[in-house]
Amino acid sequence: MNKSRLLIGLIMAVIAIIGYYSKNQINPITGEKQHIDMSPDQEIALGLQSAPQMAQQHGGLHPDARLQQLVKSVGNKIVQSSDAAKSPYQFDFHVLADPQTINAFALPGGQVFITYALLERLFEKEDGMQPDRLAGVLGHEVGHVIGRHSAEHLAQQQLAGGLSSAAVMATYDPSNPTTAGSQQMAAMISNVVLMKYGREDELESDDFGVKYMLQAGYRPEALITVMEILEAASGGKRQSEFMSTHPSPENRIERINAAIQKYKSQLNAK
Ligand SMILES: [Zn+2]
Repeated sequence: MNKSRLLIGLIMAVIAIIGYYSKNQINPITGEKQHIDMSPDQEIALGLQSAPQMAQQHGGLHPDARLQQLVKSVGNKIVQSSDAAKSPYQFDFHVLADPQTINAFALPGGQVFITYALLERLFEKEDGMQPDRLAGVLGHEVGHVIGRHSAEHLAQQQLAGGLSSAAVMATYDPSNPTTAGSQQMAAMISNVVLMKYGREDELESDDFGVKYMLQAGYRPEALITVMEILEAASGGKRQSEFMSTHPSPENRIERINAAIQKYKSQLNAK
């Protein structure tokens, strides 16, 4: 074995690890310390840049302008009437044409997507769209953005990928999206979103979702209905962003109920 190559490899690994742990940022909304290597402006740029590619993977945007408007108005109400309004992110909400994949996801910086297949399942036969259920889905996704979960995962992926990712990061220039580095970043972000978040990220997004729903005047119990709809639709398989990484759904619903009690009593105390 070549000793000097081994040594270089070791040094590279140490640099990657030191790099990861030295990237500390305090989340401006949650106050949590996170290992993140990007500014909110870079998150926004990256999300906007990746949005067309992500949309394309789900058949593009849905052509019905009324549906787009409905989703935008519920999403904007959640953001504008809650703690999410204090964040630097530029939120926007879109319906994807995909009639088969039951999913919703958020890109870093605030671009939020819901597939038509999921939207359709939120409808009640007699009553039409239930805005509270839609608010549950969008509130949860807004939670991922505020929690900066994608940016955290990018930093983790960078640590895992060591120097090759570091090189991509080094050549990434958000003000010049045509560079090779930027294109690679777009590919990386798409992997991170598709890779699913961790269990803690999902629980945190549920918690934020409940809080934002209450603050915006929606019924947070509808988030539980959304979980039940997704669970039933998945037929035991956890494919969607929502249901991907979870412990038992019962456990999650318990946590949502606890969050509802917590935030309701906080609101009443004001
Ligand atoms: Zn989620």
